[in-house]
Amino acid sequence: MKWDAWGDPALAKPLSEDIKGLLAAVLGVSGEVVAGPAADKVVLRPSTLADDDLKALAAIVGASWLSTRDADRLPRSGGKSTPDLLRRKSREPQDAPDAVVLPGSEEEIAAVLALCAERRIAVVPFGGGTSVVGGVDPIRAGFTAVLSLDMRRFDQLLTLDEVSGEAVLGAGLAGPQAEALLAARGYELGHYPQSFRFATIGGFAATRSSGQDSAGYGRFDEMVRGLRVITPAGILDLGRAPASAAGPDLRELFLGSEGVFGVITAVRLRVHPLPAVREFEAWSFPDFATGAAALRAVEQQGTGPTVIRLSDETETAVNLAMTDQIGGTQVTGGCLAVTVFEGDAEQVAARHALTRAALLAAGGTSLGEAPARAWEHGRFNAPYLRDALLAGGALCETLETATGWAQLDGLKAAVSQTLQSALQDTGSASLVMCHISHVYPTGASLYFTVVAAQQGEPIEQWAGVKHAVGDAIMANGGTISHHHAVGADHRPWMDQEIGELGTRILRAVKDAVDPAGILNPGKLIP
Ligand SMILES: Cc1cc2nc3c(=O)[nH]c(=O)nc-3n(C[C@H](O)[C@H](O)[C@H](O)COP(=O)(O)OP(=O)(O)OC[C@H]3O[C@@H](n4cnc5c(N)ncnc54)[C@H](O)[C@@H]3O)c2cc1C
Repeated sequence: MKWDAWGDPALAKPLSEDIKGLLAAVLGVSGEVVAGPAADKVVLRPSTLADDDLKALAAIVGASWLSTRDADRLPRSGGKSTPDLLRRKSREPQDAPDAVVLPGSEEEIAAVLALCAERRIAVVPFGGGTSVVGGVDPIRAGFTAVLSLDMRRFDQLLTLDEVSGEAVLGAGLAGPQAEALLAARGYELGHYPQSFRFATIGGFAATRSSGQDSAGYGRFDEMVRGLRVITPAGILDLGRAPASAAGPDLRELFLGSEGVFGVITAVRLRVHPLPAVREFEAWSFPDFATGAAALRAVEQQGTGPTVIRLSDETETAVNLAMTDQIGGTQVTGGCLAVTVFEGDAEQVAARHALTRAALLAAGGTSLGEAPARAWEHGRFNAPYLRDALLAGGALCETLETATGWAQLDGLKAAVSQTLQSALQDTGSASLVMCHISHVYPTGASLYFTVVAAQQGEPIEQWAGVKHAVGDAIMANGGTISHHHAVGADHRPWMDQEIGELGTRILRAVKDAVDPAGILNPGKLIP
């Protein structure tokens, strides 16, 4: 993972001449690349950990699993949001954790937490570092220092119960590692967020991640059957049965707990046999409202696609401006939708036929399978385009929310208008694209991508826009996050999201499991 951009350096691509032309014409962005500093030229705030603290930590994990080197601190100094990536380009001294610790057992985690509680050192659990909400920011909040606790050594498939269809996976496994271990035994998790290649099992649970196949396999939180969590107050092993009436479900407290309540070491998950067959079909709808109603019909009738998503007019047009053919198929305007079906042959054929009938009845036109296959082929590549846009003088960021079907159009209009007017106030025209990324019987999530020209100090430019959009989401019936989580960035809206009593409940839980407050301060809880 690159320290100052997304993903694999080998997959980075410069902006094409077509995209540069579009940016110049529509947004006044030059596209000329401004290089940031090399990693060894970045100045990090020096580590403040005392020698005595380092010795005590090394005694727990072993000296080779503890580092204060800048090369180890820099990649763990934050996540991968646009402000994170812009911050990395700074030539001013940057904040970073004071040390990185890589424990190899639950006993070592418990000992690290006990030591840190005693010595007033904050601890930030670190998975893949793909947070886009400031979830792994090294916030000290009055503590003497902050440690990044990297979970990468928890990288085993611990058990596979083929009878129950459950696997226990180490929290530090990245998406592809987890799927490879399961595939070797003929199974799959089927959790494919766009950050799949780098994000981890523990991170998915800690942020309630949502993958692109969630129409078929559910959100990550819906797949979780059990969790092991090390808290400063003790160890929890949650989830005894597939369902239980033994009081409130405590797993729910740790799903989405963002490293604030404990360190997740292993997750027991529902898995399924690798699908025998996959079918694809893309659709065109005359407008977003017609397409959204069609997706609602499919979801409410339960016809069973594994993936179903719908781009709005602007997102479809921008994709078409980059290529007039998608996957070799001529597409002209409207709103593009993608469906994918997985399972055994008979079931897939039946679910595909039912979905097809519902989409046709709702005004869709089939575009065949090629554009849907093309979507799948490129589905992990968009973040590389963001890197090239940022380097070329554009501001590019994504945000997401969800609401009921009845409120969807109003929320979409409010967020789009707020993005456009807030950016206009900074002197930038903008392109606001949106798609329905996940569907539920009662509602859907909206995923926005915005591109505009960077003006002045772009981190501050975006902070003002983000503030206005957060307010617009809350005022129009949305949630502050459908899947990116809260972190530091969405914390200002948590009081409105869960209310004052809800906040007091979260604080009470925090006091019970982490009385010294060392775990991930400044995140999630207002
Ligand atoms: C390009 C891009 C695309 C993305 N696409 C999606 C998407 O499609 N769907 C989606 O849901 N999200 C997406 N995200 C957001 C992000 O990838 C998810 O939030 C992901 O679940 C984070 O996993 P991670 O392992 O990288 O966690 P990190 O970023 O390392 O940590 C995230 C939070 O979880 C905590 N944490 C991590 N591991 C543990 C653990 N073992 N125990 C306790 N706490 C822990 C951290 O302290 C932090 O608060 C995307 C991000 C990027 C940059």
